[in-house]
Amino acid sequence: MMFPKLFIPGPTNVRPEVLAEQTLPMIGHRTEVFETLFARVQTKLRRLFYTQSRVYVVAASGTGLQEAAIRNGVRRRVLCTVNGAFGQRWYEVAVGCGKEVVKVDIPWGQAVKPTDVVQAIEREGPFDAVTIVHNETSTGVMNPVEDIAQAVRDAAPDTLIFVDAVSSLGGVKIPVDEWGLDVCLTSSQKALALPPGLALAAVSDRVLERAEEVSGRGWYFDFLVLEKYLQRNTTPATPAISLMWALDRQLDIMFAEGLDNRFARHAQLAEMTRHWAETRGFALFPEEGYASQTVTCVRNTRGIDVGALNQYLRSRGMIISNGYGKLKGQTFRIAHMGETTMADMHTLLATIDEWLEQQG
Ligand code: PLP
Repeated sequence: MMFPKLFIPGPTNVRPEVLAEQTLPMIGHRTEVFETLFARVQTKLRRLFYTQSRVYVVAASGTGLQEAAIRNGVRRRVLCTVNGAFGQRWYEVAVGCGKEVVKVDIPWGQAVKPTDVVQAIEREGPFDAVTIVHNETSTGVMNPVEDIAQAVRDAAPDTLIFVDAVSSLGGVKIPVDEWGLDVCLTSSQKALALPPGLALAAVSDRVLERAEEVSGRGWYFDFLVLEKYLQRNTTPATPAISLMWALDRQLDIMFAEGLDNRFARHAQLAEMTRHWAETRGFALFPEEGYASQTVTCVRNTRGIDVGALNQYLRSRGMIISNGYGKLKGQTFRIAHMGETTMADMHTLLATIDEWLEQQG
């Protein structure tokens, strides 16, 4: 079977040496070897998330921690900002957790602005927390989280700020403490370039204090339980040990590249992809000034057959993504997250050009 190089917004390509870490023999998780691994990974994660607090790692995908944020941090009322499919997912998670949820709906393709959030707080607050997706993978919009967080802190200092950075963390700088984020969550299979199966979240002291007052936190995702075990360099339930080895190795690879270099590479890849799209007669789907650095959502102004293009690409060992849900056919998405290089992107774009020429 031939495995195409992935230019889809997750899962992303994983380096062979990182995949290989998962073949290490199994160890018990109540052992010194595991605790040493856990402690080492914890130190590295605090550096990656730019936080002094803590980063929980759970065997789940990112959605699990969307749920954890709600169950631990929301007593009763939460404000969910929605400008795409993953903001909508978080809203549905909050409803599913039985909370009183107010939604701020922003048209797909536009960014959530600080004023949208502040107005909703003034109109319908107070809220225990607000949810924001940093990088809306369905539309290619990167929301201005730093400014939104600042505005929420000014307008309602007790409102916790929850950020989904599933498709950006590791590709874009997100200084969690500096921006004052209370939960910043991500998944392993996107810009971190690991296999799926781990969800990670930086969690502030404020959230732990809040959790003490919230009932119905469950157990698997109860931050107070996770914290108790984190203090002992371990996890309450059996961790995904093989993925932890892979994470340990991948973090070293990321630090060897240099985080700033890694973020700059993502920015360059995004710039190159946007330039390609615009010079080929396409337009960009996101509102100007808010285009993602990890995935470019192209408006299909030429009316190409995205499925046929992808078939052609697949025959040449690559794949991209069609538009998400209702945007299928109207847009297509080229991801540039994780380990993608400028050379990879040159090859991809040249191959798309080849196909476009054949179409005449
Ligand atoms: N949030 C965003 C922005 C995403 O892109 C995704 C998945 O694509 C999710 C949440 C859901 O993450 P997971 O599939 O890891 O649960």
